[in-house]
Amino acid sequence: MSTPRIEVHLNKIHHNAQTIVGRLKARGISVTAVTKAVCGHPSIAQAMLDGGVIGLAEARLSNVRKLRKAGIKCSITLIRTPMLSQIDQVIQFCEASYNTEMPVIAALAAAATRKDTVHGIILMVEMGDLREGIMPEDLCAIAQQVVDLPGVALKGIGANYACLSGTAPNAAEMEALSDLANDTEAQCGTFFQTVSGGNSANLPWALDGHPICRINDLRLGEAILLGVDPVSGDQIDGTYTDAFTLVAEVIETGSKPFPLLNSICDPVFKRLHLVPKSGQSERMILAIGHQDTDVLGLSMPPDNRLLGATSDHLVIGTRQLAQKVGSEMRFQMNYSALMNAMSAPDVKTKLLRDNPSPRAPVSEGQANNLVSI
Ligand SMILES: *Cc1c(COP(=O)(O)O)cnc(C)c1O
Repeated sequence: MSTPRIEVHLNKIHHNAQTIVGRLKARGISVTAVTKAVCGHPSIAQAMLDGGVIGLAEARLSNVRKLRKAGIKCSITLIRTPMLSQIDQVIQFCEASYNTEMPVIAALAAAATRKDTVHGIILMVEMGDLREGIMPEDLCAIAQQVVDLPGVALKGIGANYACLSGTAPNAAEMEALSDLANDTEAQCGTFFQTVSGGNSANLPWALDGHPICRINDLRLGEAILLGVDPVSGDQIDGTYTDAFTLVAEVIETGSKPFPLLNSICDPVFKRLHLVPKSGQSERMILAIGHQDTDVLGLSMPPDNRLLGATSDHLVIGTRQLAQKVGSEMRFQMNYSALMNAMSAPDVKTKLLRDNPSPRAPVSEGQANNLVSI
């Protein structure tokens, strides 16, 4: 079987989506599934749709095109504000988009009018993460302009948390977003069908019993795909954390001295100030590297340690050399490792539709023989 590859358990993704959708439904919140980490893979998107999400969201038009080409008919929202150079395709492939710039919205409106259609607009508001978003004090004026434009329909507002800042939103922040929705509706005389509270980092808030106020949608990628809360790294109750496995092949084995401090050239190690302890080690080289994944996002199997990586090689120290040249090693991936591996041309995807096995324990994936200096 070809390596490197990602084995994808579609039933586990379906189960995760169903579990999270069910819990949020009880709270009055719908789920829009985000497919960017799997590059808009149609079968994975379909597994999430089968799990009950109301639609899909994508950051990149190239991925949306892939979904449409595979026959996915559901509503797809572009969650990264559209590029002016792609306006016509946004109108063609997406029902709605998240927006922060009036010139872009005007171009969408003009293109939609030319095509005799109406494009949905959700205004992204800056609520503290300091990535994209309209400043709250400017929201009302912009909302009014959107309402007045033919070719676009103002569907609602949304916010994003924990992407740049890394902190999860709390109840007060969700209340502030709800108040903003109410105030803007009152001032513009419009109604917001969607108030999208955020991403997977919002789940602890959403499931914690706080009043949800006006929030009625979350955009979830990581929580469904990997079963973890991105901020704490904790497993989400009742979900699988092993829907994806990266499989790589051993191309060299044997004993070598640990590299000396001054011979470590891997920028990843330099950045983390990690040096191996001294001594000899049994080691393996795998045919996978920085070009294929985020190597620091791989969970090492027990008794195996990450010693280093280059563009095409992964060097692993091991207690006992059970693996032979030609054998395969399996890794769990974090979101960053998954996202990189899914978009790497040499990493193939193998879809599995088996019934979910009993839940695998969450592996720690620490490089235990590396000491911090
Ligand atoms: C990536 C992204 C999401 C999904 O984030 P997850 O952490 O995968 O749930 C939601 N909204 C926006 C705007 C995004 O860019």
